[in-house]
Amino acid sequence: MSVIDRLADLRARVRGAVTTPDDPGWDDARQAWNLAVDQHPSVVVEAADADDIAATVRFARENGLQVAVQGTGHGAAARGGDLEGAVLLRTSSMRGVTVDPERRVARVQAGAQWGDVARATAPHGLVALHGSSHDVGVVGYTLGGGLGWLARKHGLASSHVTALDVIVPSGQRVEVTDSSCPQLFWAMRGGGGSFGIVVEMEFALFPLREVYAGALLWPAERAGEVLRRWRDVAERFPDDVTSIGRLVHFPPFPTVPEPLRGRRMVLVEAASLLGEEETAALLQPLRDLGPEMDTFTTSPAEVLLSLHGDPPEPVPGMGGGTMLAELPDAAIDAVLELAGPESGSPLLGIEFRHLGGALGRTPEGAGALSSLQGRFAAYMVGMVTGPEAAAAIERHIAITQDGLAPWSTGGAYLNFTEAPTDAGNAFGTTTVRRLRDIAEAIDPDRVMRPNHQVRAY
Ligand SMILES: Cc1cc2nc3c(=O)[nH]c(=O)nc-3n(C[C@H](O)[C@H](O)[C@H](O)COP(=O)(O)OP(=O)(O)OC[C@H]3O[C@@H](n4cnc5c(N)ncnc54)[C@H](O)[C@@H]3O)c2cc1C
Repeated sequence: MSVIDRLADLRARVRGAVTTPDDPGWDDARQAWNLAVDQHPSVVVEAADADDIAATVRFARENGLQVAVQGTGHGAAARGGDLEGAVLLRTSSMRGVTVDPERRVARVQAGAQWGDVARATAPHGLVALHGSSHDVGVVGYTLGGGLGWLARKHGLASSHVTALDVIVPSGQRVEVTDSSCPQLFWAMRGGGGSFGIVVEMEFALFPLREVYAGALLWPAERAGEVLRRWRDVAERFPDDVTSIGRLVHFPPFPTVPEPLRGRRMVLVEAASLLGEEETAALLQPLRDLGPEMDTFTTSPAEVLLSLHGDPPEPVPGMGGGTMLAELPDAAIDAVLELAGPESGSPLLGIEFRHLGGALGRTPEGAGALSSLQGRFAAYMVGMVTGPEAAAAIERHIAITQDGLAPWSTGGAYLNFTEAPTDAGNAFGTTTVRRLRDIAEAIDPDRVMRPNHQVRAY
């Protein structure tokens, strides 16, 4: 069959749009949320429904192609732009969310974003274990673990998945639960996108109408004393409080509030389930350092999707992470030297997410990723404005990661890893062996092209 015939065949099989390099909408169709990733697949299919997903998988198999699934493209950097021989299967039109307030679960379609979920759960006084951004995809985030504002209380989002509706690489549709398909159910809770395409995901919700949350901000020159004090108080926080210490170079954009525009600041952000009075006592040692701004207040729980100030729209970013066993004074000094206000670093931000609490415990019946080792997850990011900036950011991420290496656990959290990496770093030897066996059994022909592979590249 000629290429033209094969494409006509694909178009006849799916309801959603099929776009090829010769079509006028090609650049829009292949664009990831992360604008720095220049994706070049063989063809793009925008799935309209589960049948489209199954038809695309069968088409890919029959034509010796792979399938790269994308909900939003927040995680596109790890897979890179070279998608030769792959169908880019986009699920961004499938954003349905249903909430069962009695069972306290939500069921979402493949392309749902966390903002969609929050809008559906808030009227019931319920929240999901989303992360810091409204437009990150529920499925990609959760397959990778999912580290959010309630993580020290409830753990990773992947530990609270209750059922998955999956098109496996053979093209069959399978309901994946603990009882119907225990191996896949284990693998897909934190093990990533190597095992099949999620059509729908069901997960637990938690009662929460209001939260005491906000940020304390100081000029970055105060970073050393602020980060030290935050580390000390954070280690005493109960599991009800999840916090982040970070250095931010706010860009000089009109969208950034005027008092912060273009400035380098050090921030402590936190979300607390304890209410204002109790949390204020925990935060007092930080307030004693006289922050220039204090935004803490009791707000509807939806505030957790904007608390971190993530970009409201797609941006060209490059980031990298490091898991830290501890954050001693020497590590803070090293970060300030390499990425602090005097360093000339092109990074826009470096943050330390406080781990521990439920994140350090393995719940019963957990999936492939059920806890995170270490006390802090570091993540650093820069904005790619061109090839020179990209090279400088890549270099500085590597330099900063090297500078933190003495305190690293040696592990990786794949949601914060934006380059190909050995899955053994993220899961440990026994888990990665089991994940590889499951991937080999379910996808022997390597139809799936996830952002992070569990098998060797
Ligand atoms: C601004 C920003 C904020 C973030 N905040 C957090 C945070 O607070 N906590 C956190 O843990 N992570 C966070 N992340 C990381 C984020 O969770 C990962 O990048 C995640 O992979 C994004 O999922 P996505 O579906 O949006 O992205 P995509 O790039 O669309 O998907 C990522 C990968 O998930 C898999 N996948 C997606 N959909 C499916 C499907 N239907 N079936 C099978 N596999 C699928 C594929 O392998 C795909 O390559 C953030 C990232 C960004 C850019």
